[in-house]
Amino acid sequence: MVTDPYAWIEQSLVTLHKADWYRSVQTLQSHPGAVVLLAGREVINFASNDYLGLAGDERLIAAAVTATKNYGTGSTGSRLLSGHRELHRELERAIASLKQTEDALVFSSGYLANLGTLAALVGKRDLVLSDEYNHSSLKNGAILSGAAIVNYTHGDTEDLRCQLTQYRRQYRRCLIATDSVFSMDGDLCPLPELLSLAAEFNCMVLVDEAHATGVLGATGAGCVEHFGCTGHAIVQVGTLSKALGSLGGYVAGSPTLIDFLRNRAASWIYTTGLSPADTAAALAAVQIIQQEPERRAQLHANVDTLKQLIQKRLPKLKVLPSESPILCLPFGNVTDTLTAAQQLKAAGIFAPAIRPPTVPTSRIRISVMATHEFTHLQQLVEAFSLPGIGNW
Ligand SMILES: *Cc1c(COP(=O)(O)O)cnc(C)c1O
Repeated sequence: MVTDPYAWIEQSLVTLHKADWYRSVQTLQSHPGAVVLLAGREVINFASNDYLGLAGDERLIAAAVTATKNYGTGSTGSRLLSGHRELHRELERAIASLKQTEDALVFSSGYLANLGTLAALVGKRDLVLSDEYNHSSLKNGAILSGAAIVNYTHGDTEDLRCQLTQYRRQYRRCLIATDSVFSMDGDLCPLPELLSLAAEFNCMVLVDEAHATGVLGATGAGCVEHFGCTGHAIVQVGTLSKALGSLGGYVAGSPTLIDFLRNRAASWIYTTGLSPADTAAALAAVQIIQQEPERRAQLHANVDTLKQLIQKRLPKLKVLPSESPILCLPFGNVTDTLTAAQQLKAAGIFAPAIRPPTVPTSRIRISVMATHEFTHLQQLVEAFSLPGIGNW
């Protein structure tokens, strides 16, 4: 009998379809922004991580064009061989300045920054304590490291204390790893409490500031600044691809940490350096974030306006607790969530359905941008009052 060793793949896709877990891409045909062209239709964009509207900013585009003309399209090698440019170091200094740390290291993506950093900091004899809602890159970084992994209940410092009491002393090093803004919920990690538990149990702390950098804190440094924890010994990871409008990731921390990662993080050592265009665009973004705090102020004003509109017009709409520009509406099941997302799109609103396995329970996820206008927020609220779209 001849069997096809790949037949299981098609079976697997059938299973995904049956569970409503199947996903596919949607083509965006315009510049990034508050209003985009999606499959030939103009929609208001509540699906973007471009919180400050920088991905389409002329200054970032000009910086990327100039860097490409000066240095070419590719960096042609890993940073330790032929791929290092002065531009990379300039960006790392700028990130350290934005994050108020002594040094920083840029990676090819935030995902790679988490994989490489976790795998470098802990190993077989060590323990990772991970918030159960952590981003995939933190979870997979922990697996890659070979350390023992214990998940604690989302945001629950009492549960974390129990786990530390039970397991900490069986291991050499311990790392507490958490999103700072939870990417699919919008709430914040209890950073001050995590830091005091870390001090009590002699643990390292890694926070993923992907959705916080440029967004939270008085100067946009992120959640660490928001909580007044600047200067604490924290491994801060983040991305250049959200509020910074470019592509790439970073780790910010002490010079010793950064020097160690340059020698030990495989996802930094064995991959090509960031392209000149991405590096220059991110550098321009950091400068704009530092020089134009009004963008961040506008973003938060928009979040407040949207929350007020919801409270006034749709007081029964269920919204998950959030202290960020990410607002989520929980739905009972996958099918209802997908239907709501489709109906929103028909009403000119682009807000994606997020469902398992990304999250345990289905939801519509809205991200607010600084460049949304009042009428955009009004139209969103109006769409949620249409029959079949709201979660009541
Ligand atoms: C987006 C995201 C990442 C990955 O960043 P990329 O630069 O897109 O690879 C990592 N962690 C969190 C929490 C994220 O939301």
